[in-house]
Amino acid sequence: MKVYISADIEGTTGITHWDEAEKPHATYPEFRERMTDEVVAACEGAIEAGATEILIKDAHDSGRNIIAGRLPDCAKLIRGWSGHPFSMVQELDASFDALLFVGYHSKAGSDDNPLAHTLRLRVAHLAINGEIASEFQIYSYAAALVKVPGIFLSGDAGICADARKLVPAIVTVPVSRGIGPSTLSIAPSLALKEIREGASRALRGNHAACHIELPKHFTLEIKFTTPVDAYRASWYPGATLTEPRVVRFLSTDYFEVLRAIKFMA
Ligand SMILES: [Zn+2]
Repeated sequence: MKVYISADIEGTTGITHWDEAEKPHATYPEFRERMTDEVVAACEGAIEAGATEILIKDAHDSGRNIIAGRLPDCAKLIRGWSGHPFSMVQELDASFDALLFVGYHSKAGSDDNPLAHTLRLRVAHLAINGEIASEFQIYSYAAALVKVPGIFLSGDAGICADARKLVPAIVTVPVSRGIGPSTLSIAPSLALKEIREGASRALRGNHAACHIELPKHFTLEIKFTTPVDAYRASWYPGATLTEPRVVRFLSTDYFEVLRAIKFMA
């Protein structure tokens, strides 16, 4: 069985402040370790359930956070960013049986995680067909293009709830919840047990129940925090500036939506 893991840091257990997610800060190494531990736990659960090949995308910031020396032999790691529109699920294709999300976080505008955002902090929100979308949704739809089901997600309670709304059969492990600028989280050691067990259960379960049927038409709307970013993005081919801070892009092809996101967001 071939498994893909997309890993972020802002939904790891207990992370609360941007200083903990950014390399130059003294508080970052602890959460780089936490991210690595949670990815390793997901790998262990996957292997227990029969995974023989695991491809991991380090999908936070520089794409160079996970401590590669701790990964199991059957895992391969993508570090850095290629520029491919699949971005957080780069190199995902139809040869994979399932996709797991680890350390994922609430969308921009949500109050469920002090670090809630969508792709970049200059994005006030990103909506697909009128609904505010998370990174989980953006890349679950990408996975649907190559017919790979997203079957597991760990992260803050808000993104877990969003994931279950989009994919009712997905296994989720909520590790933290935001309360204003603070967080309330479970013990990191318990999170590892639950991630290991949840990943294993998800892979043993009915993957087909997690397939997403993509809409036929897409309206992408990106609201920026400042008008200058919206103006710049409005020059993407096919994009229109609908308000001083809002750019809209329409397509029937989700890959074109991903390409637009890559260049505009
Ligand atoms: Zn991140």
